[in-house]
Amino acid sequence: MQFEQLPTPCFVVDEALIEKNLKILNGVMQRTGAKIVLAQKAFSMTAMYPLIGEYLSGATASGLYEARLGHEEMGKENHVFAPAYREEEMDEIISICDHIIFNSFSQLAKFKDKALQAGRKVGLRVNPECSTQEGHEIYDPCSPGSRFGAKQEDFRAELLEGVSGLHFHTLCQQNSDDLETTLNAVVEKFGQWLPQMEWINFGGGHHITREDYDIPRLEACIKRMQNDYGLEVYLEPGEAVALNAGFLVTSVLDFHKNGMDIAILDTSATCHMPDVLEMPYRPPLIGSGEVGEKPHLYRLGGQTCLSGDVIGDYSFDEPLKEGDRLVFEDMAIYSMVKTNTFNGMPLPAIAVKRKDGDCEVVREFGYQDFKMRLA
Ligand SMILES: *Cc1c(COP(=O)(O)O)cnc(C)c1O
Repeated sequence: MQFEQLPTPCFVVDEALIEKNLKILNGVMQRTGAKIVLAQKAFSMTAMYPLIGEYLSGATASGLYEARLGHEEMGKENHVFAPAYREEEMDEIISICDHIIFNSFSQLAKFKDKALQAGRKVGLRVNPECSTQEGHEIYDPCSPGSRFGAKQEDFRAELLEGVSGLHFHTLCQQNSDDLETTLNAVVEKFGQWLPQMEWINFGGGHHITREDYDIPRLEACIKRMQNDYGLEVYLEPGEAVALNAGFLVTSVLDFHKNGMDIAILDTSATCHMPDVLEMPYRPPLIGSGEVGEKPHLYRLGGQTCLSGDVIGDYSFDEPLKEGDRLVFEDMAIYSMVKTNTFNGMPLPAIAVKRKDGDCEVVREFGYQDFKMRLA
C-alpha cells in the first residue's frame, strides 16, 4: 500500500528511520562496550521489536506487563524498574526479568533475597538530588518531594549485600552535558559504594539520536565509569530509539470560523497525542509553517468535546480543503502508548513503512476496543 492510501487516522512508523536511530545507538555500544536497552514505555510497537533486537541488548519495563511484552516479543535482556512492586507479581517478574531494580531500601529488604536466589541481578535506584532541567517538574525525578530513588542519607550498608548495580534516571530529552553534571553528583554522593558494584544504569532521557547530541561526551561518561570503577554501563533510552521515526496521518473533516479559521481533524490531541497537551509541545506538521509564516492560518482541533483539544495553530501555502490529509511528524514516541478512547474516539490504526517504501497496516481498532475497557 502507498503512504497516500493509508486509512486515517493512522500512526505510521518508518522502519528505515528507526534503523537509522538504532545504528547510532549501536555505534555507542560498539565503541564503548556499553549496553543499551529500549525503554518500552516510550515505544512499545512490537512489530518493530525484531528489528530493535538486532541492534540493542534488550528492553526495560515499568512493571510486570511491559516486562512480559519485552520477554515475549524481544526475548533478549529484560530489565524492570517500578516505584514499588506488588507482592503477588514478584514471582512472575523474577521468572522473566534479568535485572530487577528497586526504588528503596524497604523494597530491597522485602524482595531482594527471592530475586537473588533465582539468580537475578538486583539493582537500586538512587536519587542524586541533582536537577538539570528547569521548568518541567513533572519530568524531574530530582524535584523536591520526588518519590524516586534512594538518597544518600537513606543508604543502609547492611542491605546492599547482593546488590550488584546502581540505577539513576534523572534526564528528559537532554544532552550529554547534563549527563556529565549528573554523573558528577552520582560519584560525589554514591562513589563510596561503586567499587562493590558490577554495573551502573544511566537511565533514559538521553536524546542520543537528536542532531545536536554530543555523543563523544556521552562516551567519555561511559568510559569514566568503566575505567574508574570497572563497571558495566547500561543506558535505557526510550525516545532516542524512535525519535522522529513516526507520523500520524489525519484527514480534515470540516471547518469552523470564530475570529480565525479552524479545521476539525479526524484525530484528537487529548486522545491520540496527549503529550501535545501534557508536555506540552507543538508537533511538526509536514508542509506547514509557524503562525504568520505562510498566508493561510488554521487552528487544528480534534473531534472531542474538550475545548482544549487543539493541536496548535499552523499556516499553509494554500487554503485547506475537506478531505486533505495532514501528516504530523515525530509521532512514534509517547503517542501509541498513551492513546485513549475518551468521547468514544476511535483509536488510530498502526502501520509500518517498510524499507522499500511499501506501507502495511499492522493493526486496526474498532468499537470493541472502546467497549472492552468499560463495564
Ligand atoms: C522514562 C524512563 C526511561 C526512558 O526515558 P526516555 O525519556 O524515553 O528516554 C528510562 N528509564 C526510566 C526509569 C524511565 O522512567
